[in-house]
Amino acid sequence: MNKRAVIGIAVVVGVLAIAAPIAASLYWAEKQNLAEQQSRGDRVASEVLRRMDLMADETFEMFRLMKAAKATDSCSEQNIRLMRRIAMQMDQLKAVGYVANDHLICSSFGRHDVGSMGIPLGPPAYRSPLGSDVRTSVRFEDVPGKTFLVSTDRSTGYTAIIDGDQALLPNVPDISMGAFFGSTKTPLVSHGDFNPRWMEELGSATEAHFSSGRHLVAFKRSSKYTFASFAAIKQTTVREGLQRAAMLMIPAGVGAGLVLALAVFYGTRYQMSPRALIKAGLRRNEFFLVYQPVVELQSGRCVGAEALIRWRRPDGTIVRPDMFIPYAEESGLIHDITKEVLRLVAHDTARFLKAHPHLHIGINLSSKDLVIAETTQLVRDLIREMGVKPHNIMVEATERGFMQADVARRIMDDIHSLDVRIAIDDFGTDYSSLSYLEKFHLDYLKIDKSFVDTMGGEAATSQVALHIIEMAKSLKLEMIAEGVETEEQRRFLAQRGVQYAQGYLFAKPLPFAEFAAYVEKTEKQPDPVVGAMQYPLLTDS
Ligand code: C2E
Ligand code: CA
Ligand code: CA
Repeated sequence: MNKRAVIGIAVVVGVLAIAAPIAASLYWAEKQNLAEQQSRGDRVASEVLRRMDLMADETFEMFRLMKAAKATDSCSEQNIRLMRRIAMQMDQLKAVGYVANDHLICSSFGRHDVGSMGIPLGPPAYRSPLGSDVRTSVRFEDVPGKTFLVSTDRSTGYTAIIDGDQALLPNVPDISMGAFFGSTKTPLVSHGDFNPRWMEELGSATEAHFSSGRHLVAFKRSSKYTFASFAAIKQTTVREGLQRAAMLMIPAGVGAGLVLALAVFYGTRYQMSPRALIKAGLRRNEFFLVYQPVVELQSGRCVGAEALIRWRRPDGTIVRPDMFIPYAEESGLIHDITKEVLRLVAHDTARFLKAHPHLHIGINLSSKDLVIAETTQLVRDLIREMGVKPHNIMVEATERGFMQADVARRIMDDIHSLDVRIAIDDFGTDYSSLSYLEKFHLDYLKIDKSFVDTMGGEAATSQVALHIIEMAKSLKLEMIAEGVETEEQRRFLAQRGVQYAQGYLFAKPLPFAEFAAYVEKTEKQPDPVVGAMQYPLLTDS
């Protein structure tokens, strides 16, 4: 996947990481709030119903007791005393009375028909199938401003006078509530908003919840009587609840979102970091080697190759080592890269080297490899695993590798004692103490391309380049010139006694199969085809 796609995905994921918890918290806030308001409604409706049931229980108990007294005159002194006693004993009944022809004739307070037909009550609002007639909102002159529920036993005329408002809960002002008989659309008691159409929603169910336009409504049907209760919460109240819940949930959602977004940010940053990319590349075998032939200048023959690492990214682009070796060194992965190089060398070249035992493969070691004791062991294992001779392997170490001289020296000595040849790479470009040249066992000196570039041609040849050549000779080091691109350079090097060279003049770094073909071709021809033979040596010294 390319970088832009990864960043694009990371941005989308990051936005989602922020938005999703907020959306989720809002969703939960809404769900939570709705559930809470619904259960508030339920609790109110249940309580109203419980109180209504209690009122009806006492009413029917009173009907039973009065009937059982079997008075011949319902309004006799004795019967009125009984009414008074029952009214006093029962919590819900304000008064017990006797009704005939829609008038209250007498009650636990005494007779009401002195000089009149009694207190007129008007026709009942509801005739219950359980045998009672119910009048709602009955007013009495002596109790101004108050209405009562009046329930009369149709067969005896005994009547319960009840303060229906006591079924209601005064301390929840934001909830409308009440009770009504199943088949009527007039409430028995109610306070606050009431819409007769709500009752249609209950149907024959024992309870119901629904949201109607401006209200969230809960219903409960009595299991003993023919009435039901309701509680209705205004949607505006529901929304206020939502806002309150959201005020609590959204900060949590935002917090969670930020944490997630940061996790995505750092996660992506880590995944995009060179270290993570190199690790993934190693895991997915994205690295491979190319081999640049090293040629003997006198004969033009190929004497070996330098293994150079390449990284094929998942999108197909090939990355040069200069782009990732420094990161691998910084992040401590270089040793893993070296191991991978050794594995690839063994895989690519073992068989070929056995068939061409005079060739060598040069392996670049990082300065970090020279302070890790395991490196010697790795080289030893490589030779054994490949089944080749030690001189088939050459290691190239740069001057930087010698900076921790003591450790490096021990490791280099160990490698040297395996009979593996050692080359000093990029000579003269970096670390400028030359004392190590004598301290270390070295076999080859690689003349860096920057010096080769100054050789031959019109420009005055660098004194440094000549000095390096003289120094190598006096130290008995063989030389390999790097980055030879022109015939002039080749000729100049050969004339100064430089033994070997590599560079585009001979061949670029090649995939292994092409390198093998290159070797076969140059070996078949007694007179090599490479540039060298087109310009016989020593003709123009
Ligand atoms: P180096 O060891 O000095 O390798 C020589 C570099 O010069 C190679 O670049 C090679 O492709 C390039 N080259 C060879 N002939 C010519 C030429 O005629 N003209 C020009 N312009 N360039 C030429 P490359 O392969 O990009 O490697 C760059 C550096 O990366 C290497 O420098 C080496 O320091 C490092 N490197 C390469 N492979 C490995 C490896 O397997 N392990 C480690 N630790 N470092 C490696
Ligand atoms: Ca090298
Ligand atoms: Ca070099």
